[in-house]
Amino acid sequence: MQHRVTFIPGDGIGPEVAKATQRVLEATGVRFQWDDVIIGSQAQDLFGTPLPESTLESIKRNKVALKAPVTTPIGSGFRSVNVALRQTLDLYACLRPYKVYPGVHTPFKDVDIVVVRENTEDLYSGIEFAKDTPEAAELLDFVFNTTGEKLKNDSALSLKVISQTASRRIATFAFEYARQNNRRKVTAVHKANILKFSDGLFLDTARQAAGGYPDIEFTDIVVDALCMQLVRRPQQFDVLVLPNFYGDFISDLCAGLVGGLGLAPGANIGDDIAVFEPTHGSAPKYAGKNKANPIAMMLSGVMMLRYLGEKDRADKLEKAIAEVIAEGKDVTYDLKPDPADSTAVGTSQVADAVIEKVKRG
Ligand code: NAD
Repeated sequence: MQHRVTFIPGDGIGPEVAKATQRVLEATGVRFQWDDVIIGSQAQDLFGTPLPESTLESIKRNKVALKAPVTTPIGSGFRSVNVALRQTLDLYACLRPYKVYPGVHTPFKDVDIVVVRENTEDLYSGIEFAKDTPEAAELLDFVFNTTGEKLKNDSALSLKVISQTASRRIATFAFEYARQNNRRKVTAVHKANILKFSDGLFLDTARQAAGGYPDIEFTDIVVDALCMQLVRRPQQFDVLVLPNFYGDFISDLCAGLVGGLGLAPGANIGDDIAVFEPTHGSAPKYAGKNKANPIAMMLSGVMMLRYLGEKDRADKLEKAIAEVIAEGKDVTYDLKPDPADSTAVGTSQVADAVIEKVKRG
């Protein structure tokens, strides 16, 4: 069977890690029909918008996309096209598995954590009011009139939005994932001791959802304690379910535990559409240098194969990647004990090594 997949090569290191991933996926024998589209500044230049309708149409039609990182201008310019894509397609669950592969240089052994991050709301809902605008002044007045709290006149404000609907569906997603993948525990992460209404709602809703899954253990933890526990004893955690904002930095923390961003895959999943992409960004300083580690994107490709029902070939590709990591020879600079190691290979050579393992079986 041939799978039609939307292919988004992104920018920065994106095109290189995307090409390497496309090559190893094709080496598994799975047949793809790639639908190439662009987003970000390339699309801005060509179509006058960073997220063209034709790109969205392609993803909606194919239901599955493989996406490399895309740069977001800092401070000015368009808002994150990555966030917009997740919100527009209602890809409400960000799924990120973090495990230590043998051979990886990390003091943390036997880590196997799955982060399930809510993707559509919280502080990233995009509702912000700039300093010295009539809207900010109106909101400051509203706060004063309703709470008696006099905030500083030169404040900028960003809204933290947590709904019961979004909390329920992300908690349900986490429990369903746990059940289908033989995981034993789901931990809800929050700051409900301080943010009683927003995070309090998230926690209450997760607790209610837990009632429907008596076979899965449920615990909760405040996000600051989680940070400490993750570096003390990460092995105690299994599936973590988090609101969007905490999910962002806990994801990077977990990536650090298992060997860095070059090994951290991910997927953004909605009810019937899924976009697979690594956790890392476009690392512009390495763009075009054949230096970036393609493994995070390759492992995102493994997740995509499983989503497409190609379980055996997914296992085969993951095994080949794991062997390349374990041998430690054909890996990029970030996987060497010394990043300045001159034996580090480039992005495309990692793909060559993985393909050789896949072919050998
Ligand atoms: P980044 O992940 O691009 O890079 C941080 C550092 O991590 C890099 O300097 C590099 O040292 C290392 N790194 C990242 N990926 C690597 C890889 N595959 N191999 C080897 N080393 C790697 O994060 P950033 O610098 O904060 O962001 C750069 C740009 O990427 C920004 O415009 C940001 O908005 C964007 N971004 C996009 C996505 C996405 O498309 N989903 C995600 C995060 C960041």
